[in-house]
Amino acid sequence: MKSKNYFKEMLKGAELKSTKHRITILEILKENKLPLSAEDIYIKLKQNDISISLSTVYRVLETLHKKDIVAKVNIPDDSKAAYELYNNEHHHHLLCVKCRKILAVEGCPLEEYEKFLENRFGFTVKGHNLEVYGYCNSCTGY
Ligand SMILES: [Zn+2]
Ligand SMILES: [Zn+2]
Repeated sequence: MKSKNYFKEMLKGAELKSTKHRITILEILKENKLPLSAEDIYIKLKQNDISISLSTVYRVLETLHKKDIVAKVNIPDDSKAAYELYNNEHHHHLLCVKCRKILAVEGCPLEEYEKFLENRFGFTVKGHNLEVYGYCNSCTGY
């Protein structure tokens, strides 16, 4: 498979060994356009008859996160985090607090605000996080 080689190169570039678990988890993240929690990934691995423990899934995700291959989305009021493939395109998320769905939103409205902060505080902005939470359109009204 083509994506397998792509991920192998990616891991090599990050000085990580290409293990079956790492490659499979990267493939799952690629197939699912939305961020997934470690539990979601664990369930998908089980469905594919891949034997792995949940703690291994966490460990793999954290390793990939440290190398900036996988980005972490922190969910408020939830100890779980969701993970997605690191995407060079800066973007934000909408988190549904009821069904826990996460939607990725393209683009960023904060560029002007960053400029304002730089001028106001003489601060060099290197980035920001913004997660918007509430109810998705299926959960509105409950
Ligand atoms: Zn929802
Ligand atoms: Zn932004």
